[in-house]
Amino acid sequence: MKIIKAYKYRLDVTPEQHERLMQLCGTCRFVWNKALSICNEKWKSGEKIPSSYTMHKWLPTWKKEEETSFLAQGNAVALQQKLNDLGAAWGKHFDDLAKLKAGKMKEVKFEKPCFKQRNKDSHNSIRIMQFSKYCRIENRRVKLPSKLGWVRFRKSQEICGEIKNCTITRKSGHWFISFQTEQERLDPVHPSEKIVGLDMGVKKFVTLSTGEQYKPLNSYRKHEKKLASEQRKLSRKVKFSENWKKQKRRINRIHSKIANCRSDYLHRASYEISKNHAIIVIEDLKVSNMSKSAKGNAENQGKNVKAKSGLNKSILDQGWYEFRRQLEYKQAWRGGEVIAVNPAYTSRTCPEESCRYESKENRPNQETFRCVKCGYENNADIVGALNVLSIWELGHSLSACGEGSLESSEKQEPRRNRERVAA
Ligand SMILES: [Zn+2]
Repeated sequence: MKIIKAYKYRLDVTPEQHERLMQLCGTCRFVWNKALSICNEKWKSGEKIPSSYTMHKWLPTWKKEEETSFLAQGNAVALQQKLNDLGAAWGKHFDDLAKLKAGKMKEVKFEKPCFKQRNKDSHNSIRIMQFSKYCRIENRRVKLPSKLGWVRFRKSQEICGEIKNCTITRKSGHWFISFQTEQERLDPVHPSEKIVGLDMGVKKFVTLSTGEQYKPLNSYRKHEKKLASEQRKLSRKVKFSENWKKQKRRINRIHSKIANCRSDYLHRASYEISKNHAIIVIEDLKVSNMSKSAKGNAENQGKNVKAKSGLNKSILDQGWYEFRRQLEYKQAWRGGEVIAVNPAYTSRTCPEESCRYESKENRPNQETFRCVKCGYENNADIVGALNVLSIWELGHSLSACGEGSLESSEKQEPRRNRERVAA
């Protein structure tokens, strides 16, 4: 199997390299915006959107025109990549429209591509293809083309596999580089033979049927107060003033801190569980449904909206969906499996094989499980995990990894440009 993995590091750039990167990103942004405005005109007049192949042909012309001759200062490969991205963005939008028309989708996920702005982090990036041809790595430095030269990066882990391309992005005032690698591995065999059941909870993020528990991180809650007060400060400032911009940057830093904490935590937990178990049995929680239901609808102004949205917030905060996605691809790499089972009654059924008595009474409170029939007693979360495991052992599994219950399992596969991977 082919394993695609990305390694992301922070770049330590000199002031000159920073300027050059801004310039390169600027040319990319310009090309995207110019091509997009042509596409938009065509769209308006009902013409076909040009393919990225057609768009590539515009580049030499633009470089020759006086007004846009500065594009010659850009990186030719990166400029072409931007046009490929634009073509792909239109493609995704059209795919969605087709699905919408066929009734396979309720709302469009990929909107029409939009113009890129200088001051938006995510709008500043360049991708360099054919890494081995244009770039080189030596210890903690990477040699980049387009007069960037050697750039130091904070190498926090070794890079495995062959680097195919790299993307340089700007985030919260820093530059980052992400190396996309490919590696061919033949039928991995999971090093462990153990099977484990998982119970997901609000108080305990994950409980294993072995009794191990992972506490919730709730990174958002921890930083919530700080974020709220900084946001209040922002609202008192004059929009787009220097102070407003400064405050805005401060808020963005808190946001990215939260995201980093959460990502680290989830990767660490999924890494440990995946490393030690060949088969992981999980509850098939419909996280997205749960978070939608709290809003209520017109007739039913959701009774427990407040309580529910509190619970949902923790659910989303802890990133169960993301956690499952990570478990699935980590297991796939190691040759293990993730199996989702229907979680019905897992919290109130006695896990004793000879008993299996199911009753509300078995759960006198949130933490405790005590079987009213046979007297079996244990922590309720552990009982949940044991039951999840036994549902699978009894042969009632809903779906194996990648099919069935999760509507878009395919989309959950690791993506080239996004994946950040723990060691
Ligand atoms: Zn019992």
